[in-house]
Amino acid sequence: MEGPEPLLFHLDQRPTTRQVADRVKHGGVDALTEAERRADQATYQEVDCRSALNRVKGMPFDWTLNPYRGCTHACHYCFARRYHTQFELDSDDQFASVILVKRNFVEVLRQELDRPSWQREQVALGTATDPYQPIEGRYKLTRRTIEALAKGRTPTGIVTKGPMIVRDRDVLSALAQAASVTVCMSVPTVDEHAWRTLEPGTAHPMQRLRAVRDLVDAGINAGVLMAPIVPGFSSARSKLERTVKAIADHGARFVGCNVMYLEDGTRTHFMQFIAREFPAMQPRLERLYTKKYPPENYRKEVQGLVRVLQDRYGLHKRRSANDNDAITEPETGATAEHNAPEPEQVAFRW
Ligand code: SF4
Repeated sequence: MEGPEPLLFHLDQRPTTRQVADRVKHGGVDALTEAERRADQATYQEVDCRSALNRVKGMPFDWTLNPYRGCTHACHYCFARRYHTQFELDSDDQFASVILVKRNFVEVLRQELDRPSWQREQVALGTATDPYQPIEGRYKLTRRTIEALAKGRTPTGIVTKGPMIVRDRDVLSALAQAASVTVCMSVPTVDEHAWRTLEPGTAHPMQRLRAVRDLVDAGINAGVLMAPIVPGFSSARSKLERTVKAIADHGARFVGCNVMYLEDGTRTHFMQFIAREFPAMQPRLERLYTKKYPPENYRKEVQGLVRVLQDRYGLHKRRSANDNDAITEPETGATAEHNAPEPEQVAFRW
């Protein structure tokens, strides 16, 4: 059987994600001969995308934008792991070590925003990968995306674990003036052990909270998502309280929370990780996760506790100052890229 076409057909032309998937299917990651291997041990493959805006339904936002696929932050609970299999890449190590960079993303987005049919509906940036993972420092695709959204006067929400976002205070302010922008910094917990164990490639939680402070001080509507709270790692009352207090101390405008859910490749990866690293926890987690979510009474208990803590540390008052910033529990999935359901752990209202 003939192998796939070479990746590069002309100088300065990049393959599409489908061509990359074909290549990997036939020859593994080593077949990405033009990919760049960087000091962080990740492999970066530039691709050309055909569209940037991705329509979703049943979510508090109408469109999603993801300039990268895969994420070196490597969170073990990441819902987006399962989407990597769409590119013939696995949801384990390759999710965090083979990153697709949509090199022409901003140019495609600008064309889409310029269309007379564009209604300036709500856009969510960073739903299937972190838009401020380290490689953004080099490509600046997220920064240029925000500039394009400001020019297109498009209301936007951003979710990230990357303190690098403070670099973009200027363009975020421009977007806030042109339309609106809400930044949700993901800080599931400030517990050191849970952070090191579950989010090995991310910045320290306190560094993320300092970024929230910087954004709020710059006049940007920024808050925190405690999502996901992982049973057995970050669900203890004392850890929840330390986290909510730290969030309040850093001036977050709002806070939301959600308990981890597991599905498809994410479930496989997470349970294998637990079996390998924390075998004593496996039976309890298997019992708790007979379905996608833990039982409703467990989730309600955790959410109720966080609500009490929000009251105690004055976060409800801040939130009610602008109801549009309210974060809601996810209720539905949605149709997203390549017909995959959109991640529910970021189902919030801006
Ligand atoms: S930062 Fe977000 S996208 Fe990246 S691995 Fe963690 S949960 Fe997934």
